[in-house]
Amino acid sequence: MEAAKSTPLELRPLGNTGLKLSSVGFGASPLGNVFGPISESDAIATVRQAFRLGINFFDTSPYYGGTLSEKVLGIALKALEVPRNEYIVSTKCGRYIDGFDFSAERVTRSIDESLERLQLDYVDILQCHDIEFGSLDQIVNETIPALLKLKEAGKIRFIGITGLPLEIFTYVLDRVPPRTVDVILSYCHYSLNDSTLEDLLPYLKSKGVGVISASPLAMGLLTEGGPPEWHPASPELKAACKAAAAYCKETGRNISKLAMQYSLSNKDISTILVGMNSIQQVNENVAAATELSTGKDEKALSEIDDILKPVKNQTWPSDPKLD
Ligand code: NAD
Repeated sequence: MEAAKSTPLELRPLGNTGLKLSSVGFGASPLGNVFGPISESDAIATVRQAFRLGINFFDTSPYYGGTLSEKVLGIALKALEVPRNEYIVSTKCGRYIDGFDFSAERVTRSIDESLERLQLDYVDILQCHDIEFGSLDQIVNETIPALLKLKEAGKIRFIGITGLPLEIFTYVLDRVPPRTVDVILSYCHYSLNDSTLEDLLPYLKSKGVGVISASPLAMGLLTEGGPPEWHPASPELKAACKAAAAYCKETGRNISKLAMQYSLSNKDISTILVGMNSIQQVNENVAAATELSTGKDEKALSEIDDILKPVKNQTWPSDPKLD
C-alpha cells in the first residue's frame, strides 16, 4: 500500500461534477515518449511520486505515443495498489495516431479499447480530443449523444471537450443541453506568454463547466531546456521565451517554477495539467504549488512580462500533426 501523502496539495472543485482535482494535474503525454524516451520503470516511479505528493488527476489519450501513454499509465496506476476512487483519470476519443474520427461508432469502440489499455472499469472523464479538426456540428449532434450513452452504461462519469482555439468551446456549449458537457480542457492559453483563456472563464463559470488548463510550460517553451523540435511556435515566440528563460537563470530563478505559479494562481481553473517524465519534475512542480502560499515573485513576473510583451498572446494555427 502507498504511504500517506506528506504534502497537502490544494484540491479544487471541477465545475458541477462534484470531483475535487489536485491543483497540479499529471499530464501523461510524456509517458508516450512525446517529449523524448522514458522507460517503463521511470514512468511508474514518476506516477508513484506524483500520487505520493497529492496529485490525484491523471490525463492521457489514445493519441499520445499511439496508445503507449494509456498503456504505461494503466500499469503505473495499478502499481499504486490503492482503491480506484483515490485517483481521477481522464482519457480522450476521436483523435488517433492515424487520424480523426468523431463518429458515434468509433468513439463507442474507443472507450472499450482505452479501458482495456488502462486496466480500468471506467474513466472519470472522457474528452473529445481536439475537436477543431472535426465537424463541430458532428460533435454536438453525434459524438456527445454517443458519450451520454457511455455515461449511462457506467463506462465514463463525465464528458469533456478539448482543443486549441478558444471559440470551439462556446460554439459547442451554446448548442448542447445544460450539464451535458461537464468539462473543457484548454491548452497553451493560460501561461506566462498567453493568458487569453481568462476572458472565457466567466462564461464557463456561468455554465457550471469545469476548467482544466493544460501546458502551463507552453509545451516546453517555458523551460530551461527549451521546446522539442516539433514545437509549432513562431521563431519570434521561441526566441522571446528563450530570452525569458535565460534571464531567469541569470537572476537565480527558474522559468518553469514561475510559469507554474502564474498558472496556479487563478482559482477559477480547477487544475493545471503539466506533462512530467521524472520524479524531479514532479517534485519541482508540486513545490511550486505548495510554495505559492507564501506569494508569487511579483518582481520576477513583471520583469518576464516585459521580455514577453512583444509576443504576448501570440498563438499558432492548430496543426493536425501535433498534440
Ligand atoms: P507542458 O507545458 O506541461 O510541458 C511539458 C514539458 O515540460 C515536458 O517536456 C516536460 O518534461 C517538461 N517539464 C515538466 N515539468 C518541468 C519542470 N519543472 N522543469 C522543466 N521542464 C519540465 O506541455 P504538455 O505536456 O503538452 O501539456 C500537459 C498535459 O496536458 C499533456 O501531457 C496532456 O495530458 C494535456 N494536453 C492536452 C491537450 C489536448 O487535449 N489537446 C493538449 C496539450 C496538453
